[in-house]
Amino acid sequence: KKIVIAIDGFSSTGKSTIAKQLAKKLNYIYVDTGAMYRAVTYYALQHHLIGDDFFLSDELIESLSEIKITFKFNESLGFSEVYLNGKNIEKAIRTLEVSRYVSPVATISEVRKKLVEQQQLMGKDKGIVMDGRDIGTVVFPNAELKIFMTASAETRAQRRYKELIERGHDLSYEEVLENVTTRDRIDSTREDSPLVKAEDAIEIDNSDLTIEEQVETLLKLVKS
Ligand code: C5P
Repeated sequence: KKIVIAIDGFSSTGKSTIAKQLAKKLNYIYVDTGAMYRAVTYYALQHHLIGDDFFLSDELIESLSEIKITFKFNESLGFSEVYLNGKNIEKAIRTLEVSRYVSPVATISEVRKKLVEQQQLMGKDKGIVMDGRDIGTVVFPNAELKIFMTASAETRAQRRYKELIERGHDLSYEEVLENVTTRDRIDSTREDSPLVKAEDAIEIDNSDLTIEEQVETLLKLVKS
């Protein structure tokens, strides 16, 4: 029987890596909901609706009907990439600039409402692994399996820094740590759907676990 697997947790806990591999093993669909909030943020940056000294949330809310987010499976990568109005933005949304503005954008209730509705539709036939911040609490409160991933801020920033440097970005470890802790704070304290562990979620601290160990742990939980 196919189920819904909700994976929530703080920024850069490696949720997406684990979720992708788990989905592959189970032959499930994988959905990265962070990519959807990043897509809205990317649109807002492109249309000059947000910047260092301005945040035109009313204009962004009005533009929401112009924002069409889709996913398309990439055979060679083995996972789905995100598209904004037909354009592949999978790489463009991973910059530190988008990371800096995404949490404030994600506090806007209208943005959340639109994305949550779309996420619920994507999971209606089950057989889905969805990762984010509010999946087990808001999007799929009845998910059969809920995971809450944690790791120390330093561990997370170190991993994220390594990944960004490998992708050719030029930044410092301190900038990454600052971004990770700021996002955690905004995500956990916002009024609408704050990042909290669902009561029935299983918490996994992955600071000292390899990717293989984590995937194994989750597969056992799915089968139990
Ligand atoms: O998962 P990722 O780090 O790419 O998410 C980027 C940001 O999008 C998060 O820091 C959070 O502010 C927001 N987000 C959210 N709810 C989700 C997924 C992401 O608010 N379900």
